[in-house]
Amino acid sequence: MNTNGRIPLVDLITPHRELEEELVSVFKTALNAGGFVGGPMVRAFERGFAEFCRVQHCVGVGSGTDALRLALMAAGVQPGDTVVTVPNTFIATTEAISHAGAWWDFVDIDERTYTMDPNKLREYLEQECALDHGTGALVNRRTARRVAAVVPVHLYGQPADMDPILELASRYGLIVIEDACQAHGAEYFFEPEDCWRKVGSMGRAAAFSFYPGKNLGACGEAGAVTTNDTELAQRVRLLADHGQARKYAHEVEGCNGRLDAIQAGILRKKLTYLREWNERRRDVAQRYTELFASLNGDIGLPYEPTWARHVYHLYVIRTQYRDELQAHLTGAGVGTGIHYPIPLHLQEAYRHRGYQPGDFPISERVAKEVLSLPMYPQLAMDQQRQVVQRVADFVSTESPR
Ligand SMILES: *Cc1c(COP(=O)(O)O)cnc(C)c1O
Repeated sequence: MNTNGRIPLVDLITPHRELEEELVSVFKTALNAGGFVGGPMVRAFERGFAEFCRVQHCVGVGSGTDALRLALMAAGVQPGDTVVTVPNTFIATTEAISHAGAWWDFVDIDERTYTMDPNKLREYLEQECALDHGTGALVNRRTARRVAAVVPVHLYGQPADMDPILELASRYGLIVIEDACQAHGAEYFFEPEDCWRKVGSMGRAAAFSFYPGKNLGACGEAGAVTTNDTELAQRVRLLADHGQARKYAHEVEGCNGRLDAIQAGILRKKLTYLREWNERRRDVAQRYTELFASLNGDIGLPYEPTWARHVYHLYVIRTQYRDELQAHLTGAGVGTGIHYPIPLHLQEAYRHRGYQPGDFPISERVAKEVLSLPMYPQLAMDQQRQVVQRVADFVSTESPR
């Protein structure tokens, strides 16, 4: 890629250039068939992605946000119900909950994995909620709303700690919908069954995004719901197609949430490379970690627990001098990102919820300290050396200590 020596945060040009012929052939197939929404290319991708996630069903939809919203609705989350998630995520997670008519509450994250802390979930359920003796439902004591579901987010490519989350959910009768939008192909060691499970196969259903920069990305907008629940899959399909099982016979009021054929065809081609790309991301991450070893703990590195196979959608480091380091790297031609600079509970959009700084201290601290470095399967060793060298320059000379 010609970037005049600059190293971008993500590279969306090289992989498409490498696959240009295959991708153009998809477009030609759609043109010749005159099929643009749904149809055989969508079905073929759905089968392929279900197999990849080791689940029975995959339903292609218009985006990851739609996937999350439709999965929640199809799983039976009702307007007014509470859905518990984390403040350290992309706003699509809470948007989808709100758009399903539900109310979100937060629990804080684990400082090392950046994903939902199961102990915080336990505290929330035990201390902030109570069983309603009339209905048997779990109710938040402050809002009097039924707690219906949990949405753990597999953030940066790292699976959330699902074992204790699933156990709590089953104890309290909660639906689990995974936000797997950043973690295509990540795996979690599932203790009760003594085996590795793919992200997207552990909750009642899961939402994936194929936004261009994701580990599996379309050349436009796309998403999918995965599940082993046949009825839920049918319900997502129904809702995403205006509530019609037959043309113009609308069983329920749905929406336009369908996946288009060209995107599905493109995803199908790229899916063949996803395992290899994820392996290369893991190699890139390991090389970073080795190169950073000489910096002796001045920079916090990603942590991969023994129960996780991280797929490094992002390679996220941590430092108290994050803003200074980012400015230094920008000046040196190294692209970086912050995922995310403002935790959701402190966003202007959610001011009406009345949260204060200090409400979710781990998420707040993380938001001030995280920095995402260039990460993509095609990132070369010498580029990584440059990135780490620029960070090392900063640590040795410019760090304001
Ligand atoms: C990308 C993303 C989404 C939303 O996906 P879209 O396809 O952009 O709608 C939801 N949650 C997380 C964590 C994401 O990273």
